[in-house]
Amino acid sequence: MHPFEQHIRNVPDFPKPGIIFKDISPLLTYHFDEVTHALCEGINWDEVDAVVGIESRGFILGAAMAQLKGKGFIPMRKKGKLPPPVISESYALEYGTDTLELVQTDKPLRVILVDDVLATGGTLRAAMKLCEKNHYQVKALSLLINLTFLNKFKEEGHPVHSVLNY
Ligand code: AMP
Repeated sequence: MHPFEQHIRNVPDFPKPGIIFKDISPLLTYHFDEVTHALCEGINWDEVDAVVGIESRGFILGAAMAQLKGKGFIPMRKKGKLPPPVISESYALEYGTDTLELVQTDKPLRVILVDDVLATGGTLRAAMKLCEKNHYQVKALSLLINLTFLNKFKEEGHPVHSVLNY
């Protein structure tokens, strides 16, 4: 067992019945520095301009990674939080849709996409599309937890770096 695992709380039926929520808060309390280093492993940082963090736990992890590697940080937020001009990407949830946004820029950047948990992959797939729309080249995806039994990211050939795999 990875030493990080004992600090992740599995919370059944949160936020909805049937979901086992991975609460990473205790892990961040005791091992934030090691987590940040682990997320940065296996990435060629010479080819990276900035870290894109997905709201909201991706902000905590992504900002720490950017600071550690001396790179920029870009927040990718839920609909209606960023001031215009923004570009959007909507994606299907179990019930309804959700939308991610970036402030629209015209400078191409090489980025790393960061989030805490990769589950079905809907969020990350939309995040990648949104980056492409904004002329960001996604160099790698870095996740703390990959629920591999729920997604096919590896089979699709995306460069996924995940610290814990289930
Ligand atoms: P998905 O789009 O299904 O890959 O879900 C990914 C997003 O939902 C991430 O931003 C996660 O923070 C959150 N998420 C999904 N499943 C879980 C889970 N079991 N525990 C914690 N967060 C989750």
